[in-house]
Amino acid sequence: MSELLVRFSDILVNDNTANRNDCGYALDIGIIVDNFGKSRNIWYAVMEQENIDHHSWVLRCHVEAATRPPEVFASDRDPALITAVANVLPLTFHLYCLHHLNGNVSQAICASIGPEWTRFNNMFWEAYPSYLQRELYACREHWAHAWVSSRFVVGIRTNGRCEVENRINKSFLGPKVSLKQLFDYFNDRSKGQTVQDMVRVRDSSRRQHDNPIERVFPGPLRQLRAYVGPFAVHTSFKEMSASVYYQISTLLLPDGVRTWLEYAIHVTREVGFNWVDREEMSGTMNMFQNDNAYISTQFLLRLITGHGYSVKHLFRVQRIATHATHILAVLADGRYVCDCCMGMNLGVPCRHFWCAMTHVQSLGFHVGVIRRRWYQDPDLDISAIPTITLDHTANGLRVEPAALLSTSIPHPLLSNPLETISTEFPATQTRPTDIVNARTAFHEVQAALRPLINEVQTQEQLDAVLENVRGIRCIACLSFVYLLLTRFTATDFGMN
Ligand SMILES: [Zn+2]
Repeated sequence: MSELLVRFSDILVNDNTANRNDCGYALDIGIIVDNFGKSRNIWYAVMEQENIDHHSWVLRCHVEAATRPPEVFASDRDPALITAVANVLPLTFHLYCLHHLNGNVSQAICASIGPEWTRFNNMFWEAYPSYLQRELYACREHWAHAWVSSRFVVGIRTNGRCEVENRINKSFLGPKVSLKQLFDYFNDRSKGQTVQDMVRVRDSSRRQHDNPIERVFPGPLRQLRAYVGPFAVHTSFKEMSASVYYQISTLLLPDGVRTWLEYAIHVTREVGFNWVDREEMSGTMNMFQNDNAYISTQFLLRLITGHGYSVKHLFRVQRIATHATHILAVLADGRYVCDCCMGMNLGVPCRHFWCAMTHVQSLGFHVGVIRRRWYQDPDLDISAIPTITLDHTANGLRVEPAALLSTSIPHPLLSNPLETISTEFPATQTRPTDIVNARTAFHEVQAALRPLINEVQTQEQLDAVLENVRGIRCIACLSFVYLLLTRFTATDFGMN
């Protein structure tokens, strides 16, 4: 189980429930997502109190077992948990569950108006925005599609994975269940998920795909099957199949406009879209099947230029039957960003990318456009794998000579060019800012100091070593202060 946690430590979904044991302790569940896209219950905790200290302790245990903090932490918007996450996981993006936020809105409104509900209903549009403005708009970066869509969150919008678990647990657990019975039940439940995982491996190895798509994308499919796990292969195949129903055209800069940044400033306000059947509240993973969802071209271009990239080509990709339209930007270094955000948010390329690839000869496919967490081998050296293009010029759309045919990789963050922190490290490597557990720190420092200690034979030598150690402590303090200052600068004067 700990191997599973280290392998898929990039996301942690969390929720607390009451009434699951005879001690009256809250039950806390931690869930990760494996490379089939399925939930894996990675830990359970029973908490006497749901306060900052207890949440912090659980999170510290998680980091110690995972060997690194998660990139994304999804939970409801609980103040104690928010503080604990900010304290223990300062580099982690805290995603607020949309389902819980929606419930909070209803609760807040009902509590404030009580029996006056009917009258209030008539005044809804006057009161509702004030709650939204005060409570939810301020933390929009933690839940709103425009901000979350360009982040990698494994397609998660709610902590519905925990809700599913809670529903299952409810039928077996209750206020009369002892902690021992709880422990045994969870062990069996986790073993059951492992068996399901083995069945999925067997089934996925037998899965056959349709032939026409095999002939359109032979090179990318070969690479996908060689290096990528079943979820991403299956999803890519579905997106490739959908891509043939789209057409593509090139967007040209209007007369007098020199750059796409300039265009972004002048572009007119775009009409918003609606979610289908409350899709934003349901499901455990956004598979980007709503073809009407997008971020505005203006916002897309600002995101790209705000990260210091320039747009080489801008394409309009349109579904032939419905005219659902998406804008796909190819950056100067060959990476792409689509306004549907699937590639960045889920880590698997969208149908609009595959459509562009079949028409734009210079647009290459590199296995790096798939997020590393979906690979068969998380330590795969992608620098040795070539970029491939389709030997294909449908509709005669040729952008420029094959500038992207090289085997070089423009950037390690192929799957999400808009990520500010590099997270695509092999699972076994640690980043400089990763938290190390106390035992590792103790042994590493002991090993480093032992040669110095062995050299000490006189008081003079001891004094010299101690003085040097104190010097190191000074430098460490200064580094910490510097780190704090740079963090404050980034949050106080950055993108907020
Ligand atoms: Zn797209």
